[in-house]
This record gives sequence, C-alpha cells and structure tokens, in this order.
Amino acid sequence: MSMFDISERAEKYRAQLLEFMDSHVYPAEAVYDEQMRAAGDPHFQPPVLEELKAEAQRRGLWNLFHPYAEWGPGLTNLEYAPLAEIMGRSHLAPEACNCNAPDTGNMEVFTLFGTDEHKEKYLKPLLAGTIRSAFAMTEPAVASSDATNVELSMVRDGDEYILNGRKWFASNALHPNCTVLIVMGKTDPDAAPHRQQSMMVVPIDAPGVTVLRGLPVFGYQDREGHAEIDFANVRVPLKDVLKGEGEGFAISQARLGPGRIHHCMRAIGMAERALELMCRRASTRITFGKPIAANANIQDWIAEARIDIEMIRLLTLKAAYLMDTVGNKEARTEIAAIKVAAPNIALKIVDRAIQVHGGAGVTDDFPLAMAWAHLRTLRLADGPDEVHKRTLARQELRKYRDVKAGN
Ligand SMILES: Cc1cc2nc3c(=O)[nH]c(=O)nc-3n(C[C@H](O)[C@H](O)[C@H](O)COP(=O)(O)OP(=O)(O)OC[C@H]3O[C@@H](n4cnc5c(N)ncnc54)[C@H](O)[C@@H]3O)c2cc1C
Repeated sequence: MSMFDISERAEKYRAQLLEFMDSHVYPAEAVYDEQMRAAGDPHFQPPVLEELKAEAQRRGLWNLFHPYAEWGPGLTNLEYAPLAEIMGRSHLAPEACNCNAPDTGNMEVFTLFGTDEHKEKYLKPLLAGTIRSAFAMTEPAVASSDATNVELSMVRDGDEYILNGRKWFASNALHPNCTVLIVMGKTDPDAAPHRQQSMMVVPIDAPGVTVLRGLPVFGYQDREGHAEIDFANVRVPLKDVLKGEGEGFAISQARLGPGRIHHCMRAIGMAERALELMCRRASTRITFGKPIAANANIQDWIAEARIDIEMIRLLTLKAAYLMDTVGNKEARTEIAAIKVAAPNIALKIVDRAIQVHGGAGVTDDFPLAMAWAHLRTLRLADGPDEVHKRTLARQELRKYRDVKAGN
C-alpha cells in the first residue's frame, strides 16, 4: 500500500469519527467549559468527558492508536494518521477516545516492557480508560533535553531501589485518576552514557512521592496538570524495573517515536480547524465596506495555510509510512523533521487565525488561544526544536564527513 492510499478499515473509522465529532464532541466543548467553570478546580474530571468516553467506547472509537491487535484495532501508523488528525481538532477528543498523550506512550511501554503484573494492574485499566498515568523524565536541576543528564538517583538496596530526586513537567500527574508514574533515573553513574539510566514503575501514592504543584502553561492550568514531583527515599522493588537496569534510554527511544508523530498528526487537525475558523470569520466580518476575506493579505494567509498544511501532512504520512515499513529507528530523521515542522507551522496558522478574529481570538470564546498555548509547548515537549534539528543536521553532515577544508 502506498502512503497515498487509505485502507478500507481506516476509511470506515474516519467516517465514524467525523460523525462522532459533529454529533458529540464539538457540542460538548461549551458544556465542558461550563462544568469546569462551575467546579472551580482546574484538575476536575467533568461528567461530560466521561459521557464522551462511554459514547466513544460504545461506537468502537477507542484505543485506535494501539499498534498491537491484541490490545486495540492494530492500525498502522499510516492508518492512524488521518484519525489522530481528526481527534486533534478538539482538545476533548483525544481523551474521549483514549488516545491522549502521555497515556498512549505509557500503554505502549507497558505492552512492550511490562510484566504480567504491570499489564493486569496498569495496562488493562489504562486501556479501559479508568486510570491515568504520567511519565517523569524531565528534571528542574539539569538540562533534560539531553536525557543523559537526567540524575534522579536510583540506588540498589537488597531487592529494592531507593529513589531520590526531583522531576517536573510530568503531564497527567494531577489528573484525578492518575495512579502510576513511569520514572526515569540514574542507576549507574559509571556506566556508558546510554546505559546509566533505568525506568521504574512507581505508584503515585508510594511513600516518599510528593506532588508539589501543577506548573502553569502561559497562565493556564491544564486539566491533566504538569506536575513538579519530589522523590524522597521512595522504595521500588526490583520487579518494577522496566526491561532491566540500564535500559531506560532504549525504552525512551522506543516510547518517544510514536508519541512524537501522534502530536504532529493532532497538530495538523488543530491547524485545519484554525483555517476553517479563519475562513468563516473573515467571510462574515465587514470592515471598510467589504468582508475581511476580500483583502489580498488575508487571502494570502489562507492560501499559505492550505499549502503549509498539505506539506506537513505529506511529511507526516511519509514518516508514518517509514515507521510501518522500515521501523521507528530508521524513520528517526523523518520523525525529527516533522516534529519541528508540524508544531511551528500549525502555530503560525493558529496565530493568523487569532489575528483575523481580532480581540475575540485571544479569549476563550474560540479554541484558538488554548490551541496556540498548547502548540507553543510542543516546540519544547518531547524534545525542543533545536535538539531535533541537531539530529537532522548530523545526519546530513555524515554524508560529507570525508570532505576536508578546501575541497
Ligand atoms: C507542556 C509541557 C509538557 C511536558 N510534559 C512532559 C512529560 O510528561 N514528561 C517529561 O518528562 N517531560 C515533559 N516536558 C518537558 C520537556 O520534555 C522538556 O522541557 C524538554 O525536553 C526540554 O528540556 P528542558 O526544559 O530541561 O530544557 P533544556 O535542556 O534546559 O534546554 C533549554 C533550551 O536549550 C536549547 N538547546 C538544547 N540543546 C541545544 C542544542 N544542542 N543546540 C541548540 N540549542 C539547544 C533548546 O532551545 C532548549 O529549549 C513537558 C514540557 C512542557 C512544556
């Protein structure tokens, strides 16, 4: 199958998902805002979201991300791309369909590296959407975009490890249903740089784990929360070390590939929605005797948005196709490229849509301000732009490593 074809089953899901968005998800956005306002707690789990989850499950629009048929529909990355894009159009849809970060990445980790006990205790309820999980790698004290710096200490003591250190930006850790953390830390400071880290499964209520605060994002407290967490003499039994000591880096590479491209797929959906809102608003508001859309510069923005969206979609599909055909590792330069391109381009389109909306664009009457804040964080989360560009540049330069000065 070429990257331009959409399979019959993906087409079926696509049609069903579009219908679900129109009939349930978009109408739920205003209800969600109302319920959140009434609750007065940014980390409240509003009933409307649970209703959406039940409806998505009833319709079979559930766990579509999961690549293993045993645990989900077993779609390829190429098949999942148009579906994640549709979910990206509303901030409610990914969790409604149990396809939200970071749970998807954590579910993949439990699937690939979890023990039978982890699968029973965490994977199954995660797949059922009854619990949530967080991934704690980044630390306030060290530059964590270079993961070899991560230094939360994990010291062996008999048949346990003792964890001490501080994490932050653990997304989802303030979700009321969050029960488990996957924590990356240093087990052996003397090993080779990529063998020093391990990943461990830590219940969020384990003695010594303290969730200190939720970090705001441009003033927003995201519902799932981005937590700063302290670990003080937290005891983790050996059986909760994922894959084995020293395997943390290998697991994070396996985890972050799919997670990154899913973010990009959803970013395209956000860009599409912003373009739609921009066109609708520009067609109906009149200034100086004509619709805003009649101005050449606005038409230029609209045309550029369409061109840019088509370009990032093609690059996403190419990366997805390569992940399916030659593997995540071999597709890493394409994943790096789209991880830079998609958030930046979507951000530009959302920014222009905000401009066309005038003051309304920065309020919460439209989903644009929140989309902008989210997309801006995507230039940092799962690796800052510069780190992905470094991967790309090194790959390009490798082709010329025999070239000497003056040649
Ligand atoms: C909303 C949000 C959610 C997040 N969720 C999670 C999560 O769930 N779990 C988790 O563990 N982390 C999470 N993160 C953290 C995120 O992954 C890190 O912020 C990111 O990896 C950068 O690490 P750092 O903040 O330590 O920046 P640093 O490593 O201190 O880097 C700072 C800046 O230096 C620049 N830089 C770095 N290397 C180079 C280079 N080689 N060349 C040029 N410039 C360079 C980049 O611009 C970078 O942004 C989240 C972040 C945000 C904002």
